[in-house]
Amino acid sequence: MLSTRLGLSPLLHSSKQASSALSRLAVPRTTSTPLPRRRLTIVPSATPRRSFCSSHTADDKDRSKKDITMYLQETHDKVFENNKSWAAEQVAKDPDFFKKLAAGQNPEYLWIGCSDSRIPAEQITGLQPGDAFVHRNIANLVCNTDLNVMSVIEYAVKHLQVKHIVVCGHYGCGGVKAAMTPKDLGLMNPWLRNIRDVYRLHEKELDAIADEEARYERLVELNVYEQCRNVVKTAALQQSYAENGFPIIHGWVFNFRDGMLKDLNVDFKTILKDIQKIYNLTN
Ligand SMILES: [Zn+2]
Repeated sequence: MLSTRLGLSPLLHSSKQASSALSRLAVPRTTSTPLPRRRLTIVPSATPRRSFCSSHTADDKDRSKKDITMYLQETHDKVFENNKSWAAEQVAKDPDFFKKLAAGQNPEYLWIGCSDSRIPAEQITGLQPGDAFVHRNIANLVCNTDLNVMSVIEYAVKHLQVKHIVVCGHYGCGGVKAAMTPKDLGLMNPWLRNIRDVYRLHEKELDAIADEEARYERLVELNVYEQCRNVVKTAALQQSYAENGFPIIHGWVFNFRDGMLKDLNVDFKTILKDIQKIYNLTN
C-alpha cells in the first residue's frame, strides 16, 4: 500500500473514508471554535428529514419529493435575499460603493487557496471586494499544465500587476488527506498525484515524524511551500519581479482550530535564485 511504502500509517483506511474526505474536501471540524460569521448565510426554514430509500411507499416518496423541492427552492431564494440585504448594507455604509466597484479592479493580492467552503479568503483576512484576485482549487495546487491557474497567474501579474501572491493551504485539508489514501480515486488521481509528489520530494523529513497527525500537518505546509515554488517557476512572475521588484510570494496555512493564519515565511528570494539555475525565463 502506498501509505505503507511511504512509511505512513495509512491516514485513511477505506474507500468510504476516502470518498468522504473528497466529498467534503476537509475532515470534519471537531472544535467548538466558530468560524468568522459569514455574510451570506443559508438557513433554510425547512430541511429534508426523510431518507429517500426505495423501501418507502409511493405517498412517502411523493411527500419526500415535495420536501426536497421546497428545500431546494428555499436555499436558492435565501441567497438572493441575503444578496439584497448585503447590497443595501454596502450602500448604507458608502453610497458610492458600487460606483467604485464598477469603475474597475486594482487588487493588491492574488490569492490561491483551497476550494474548501470554510476558508473564504476575504472574510478571514478582512480584505474587501476589489482587494484580492482569487483562484481556488482542491488543495491549492499550482500545476504547470493547468491552464486555469496558469491563466490566472498570467493575468494577475501582467495585467492587474498584483504586489503579493499568496498560496494558502489549511490544516485538515481533505484533498491532501485523500491524496495519501491508497486507493484509485478515478479522475482525481492525476490531480492528487501532485500532492503525492510533494510527499516523495520530502519523504525523509515526513517519514521521520512519528505522530501521524503532525506528519499530515507538515505535509499540508510542504504542499504550500512547493506550490509557492511552482508560482516562482512561471515566466510572468520572474519577468515582473526582474522588472518591477514585485510581486512577492507568501505561503500561509489556515487553522480551523483558532481561525488564525500561519505565515510559513517562505524565503522567496532564495527560492527564486535556486529556481533560476534551471527555470530562468527572464530572457
Ligand atoms: Zn483543502
